[in-house]
Amino acid sequence: MTRRFKLALLDLDGTLWRDGHVIQGAPEFVERLRHNGVQPVFFTNNSSRTPSEVVDVLIRCGIAAQSNEVCTSAQAAAHALTERIPAGSTVAYVGKTGLEEALMEAGFVAKRAQGTALSEAWVNEAKAAVVGMDPLVTYLDLAVITRIAHRLGWFVLTNSDARYPTEDGFLPGNGSLGALVETASGVQPVVTGKPDRRFVEFALERYGATARETVIVGDNPYTDVLAGVEAGVYTIHVQSGVSFPDDQNVPAPDETVESVEKIFRQ
Ligand SMILES: [Mg+2]
Repeated sequence: MTRRFKLALLDLDGTLWRDGHVIQGAPEFVERLRHNGVQPVFFTNNSSRTPSEVVDVLIRCGIAAQSNEVCTSAQAAAHALTERIPAGSTVAYVGKTGLEEALMEAGFVAKRAQGTALSEAWVNEAKAAVVGMDPLVTYLDLAVITRIAHRLGWFVLTNSDARYPTEDGFLPGNGSLGALVETASGVQPVVTGKPDRRFVEFALERYGATARETVIVGDNPYTDVLAGVEAGVYTIHVQSGVSFPDDQNVPAPDETVESVEKIFRQ
């Protein structure tokens, strides 16, 4: 089974770990991929952590990884901007270090949209605005983003997840922050994380594989499975993470398994 694949795009939360604890069999699964010549890529909608911060969590979970094997929605957002605005442009953002680092590495001047900047000149000159998950964001920070989005007629949302699963339920996710900006500015976001198939295509280009040589593994039908189906890669749904009621609008994965422990055992 693994012989047909060169690349495996692996979701993190609910797939390899859950609530900060490793999911049983995940380290052995990643080793199995490597042993069979399949490049594992840690493929996450979370734009908050830098790749090296993701590696720290993986290593704490017993999963061997390097930062160049981490592909985040923040990097996809920065890549999308390179196709729209010149290098060196000022980009306003809300988000954490993962997004700031991705924007800077792509050659932009990344400025955190703080409420105190509302009347500063650079806000009128920013060439783009990006919303990434940021638990410390304020009303006025989002006001800065909203004004830029309204002026430009577009803004970037690193992922549109409405909710963020937690041990005791959920918290509002990045899509909910984006909904505020969308409502107030009256403009639609460019969404760069899963389920946007361009995030998968960005990874294929970056790691040098075709859609037919790639498998995506994840627990969320609305992000992981949909992204895989849209991009035409083989899709494995794992039941170790968030559960959703059956929804006829979500395309079926190629395979459903309990957890990564069950994948590529033969
Ligand atoms: Mg997940």
